[in-house]
Amino acid sequence: EAHKETLEFKAEVSQVLDLVIRSLYSNKEIFLRELVSNASDAAEKLRFEALSDDGLYEGDSALRIRITVDREAGTVTISDNGIGLSRNEVVETIGSIASSGTRRFIESLSGDQAKDSTLIGQFGVGFYSAYIVADKVTLVSRRAGLGAEHGVRWESDGRGSYTIETVEKAGRGTDVTLHLKEDEKEFLDSWRLRSIIGKFSDHLAIPVEMAKEYYGEEAEQKKGAPPEFEQVNRGTALWMRNKSDITEEEYNDFYKHVSHDFLPPLAYAHNRVEGTNEYTALLYVPSKAPWDLFDRDQKHGVKLYVRRVFIMDEADKLMPHYLRFVKGIVDSDDLPLNVSREILQHNRKIDTIRQANTKRVLGLLETLAKDEPEKYATFWDEFGKVLKEGPAEDFANKERIAGLLRFSTTHSEGSEQRESLDAYIERMKEGQDKIYYITADSPAAARHSPHLEVFRKKGVEVLLLSDRVDEWLVSHLHEYKGKSLQSVAKGDLDLGELADKEEQEAKKKAATEHKPLLDRLKSALGEQVAEVRPSTRLVDSPACLVVGADDMSANLARVLKAVGQ
Ligand code: ADP
Ligand code: MG
Repeated sequence: EAHKETLEFKAEVSQVLDLVIRSLYSNKEIFLRELVSNASDAAEKLRFEALSDDGLYEGDSALRIRITVDREAGTVTISDNGIGLSRNEVVETIGSIASSGTRRFIESLSGDQAKDSTLIGQFGVGFYSAYIVADKVTLVSRRAGLGAEHGVRWESDGRGSYTIETVEKAGRGTDVTLHLKEDEKEFLDSWRLRSIIGKFSDHLAIPVEMAKEYYGEEAEQKKGAPPEFEQVNRGTALWMRNKSDITEEEYNDFYKHVSHDFLPPLAYAHNRVEGTNEYTALLYVPSKAPWDLFDRDQKHGVKLYVRRVFIMDEADKLMPHYLRFVKGIVDSDDLPLNVSREILQHNRKIDTIRQANTKRVLGLLETLAKDEPEKYATFWDEFGKVLKEGPAEDFANKERIAGLLRFSTTHSEGSEQRESLDAYIERMKEGQDKIYYITADSPAAARHSPHLEVFRKKGVEVLLLSDRVDEWLVSHLHEYKGKSLQSVAKGDLDLGELADKEEQEAKKKAATEHKPLLDRLKSALGEQVAEVRPSTRLVDSPACLVVGADDMSANLARVLKAVGQ
């Protein structure tokens, strides 16, 4: 085991490495964010495992990250005293890309560097970002709890293979050493490194330390002495600070840290709740949808902390599914530190937090819609389809969610979804008591449907629904503010007060006058139709298909067929 082995990377690793370097080059400083964030994850994992076995601390529970520079060797080293890795773990996690998302990462690359760089964090290829600036990386690690003789040394130039050997390592944790490329020597400058840490890692609860710098005479005196370390990040969890002391920029930077996003968020809410269930929530609405928004195994964006200790990612119990795009943190004072997923499933405190979070986000969106309609339009285009799942999932907040929905309608041109139900209601005609909609499988099919003729003639607005989720939406949203939603393609169209006398008369007359024609059509079409009848809903088209008032809509039938039901 102790001998040195040379192993090949799993096939995708070389490919990902290549892509990472090429697509992230213009944001190269993120290598430090990724490596520091791995070190911080390792510290948090240790803290968590030590809850049930504090022998893992080996007498040293002061967790920290250190960054050291060796100017002569041209190296930067990121060291942590976190959980560390065993030899097998190194092979499994560093030598291969564990995440099944690798291939999708590759497929998702758009060639647009700004966009691609936001993907890297989501796909768990952070470690490899070291190769943006390094032509060789050495990792030396020892897992907490294993003896000093179980250290492991891994090294690779990132070109297809790596070496691994067992070594002695006294302290637990991991040192990652980057041998900087010839033209990346700027990262040997400790002030450059400090400024990057300030930018990305200021809010990490764990201290990030660097050696003190001395100049002039003092530098002479200190020559040869072991370095003295000082903390270079602020090190207080941002969410614990007073709202009034936090700048917009700090909120945005923290968002980038939790979300691995490069764009600033659209909006955020920061709340401290006191009482029997004390917690802090800092929630963000991103400005861009992630690649896997509609993926069933998608990671949830709200992280759970208990008394400043990170507990878990993807705490899907903190936010309903239709708000899964929200990023941020919840830090509870009252949950046990050893809280597990099982406990989260049935926990009153968690339920209360989820309900409050839901109201906060809905409130945030309402304010955005009212005060910053342009930002709301961006939000809607990115996440509207997800919010449309809301009325089916969240009965209690149905009306509020419905108020946030936006539609394309016959009131305006184009397929942009910008009209609210409130605006629709304001424009309703005298005597109109329903909200009319049509569902179709494309915006154009909806807009050009013959079902709309009579509505155009009477100047009655109709919602044009053509997203896949729309059928699901209207089957759960039957009314809004006391006005029922009515399909224009169902049953004997009831225009209520809108239908005028003349039309009713004409329809009756047509039924008798054209009886022979109607009968012939019915017998020619046979079983394919239930009934052929005269209608007032058409203006220019001679005929249209409708479904019975209680039948499944034609479009829903198509959607179900498409998904194999
Ligand atoms: P991610 O952090 O998203 O899992 P990375 O590529 O950044 O992806 O890291 C891959 C894995 O390597 C981590 O999940 C972790 O298991 C391991 N790892 C990386 N750095 C460290 C470290 N400093 N200490 C312990 N494990 C580490
Ligand atoms: Mg990482």
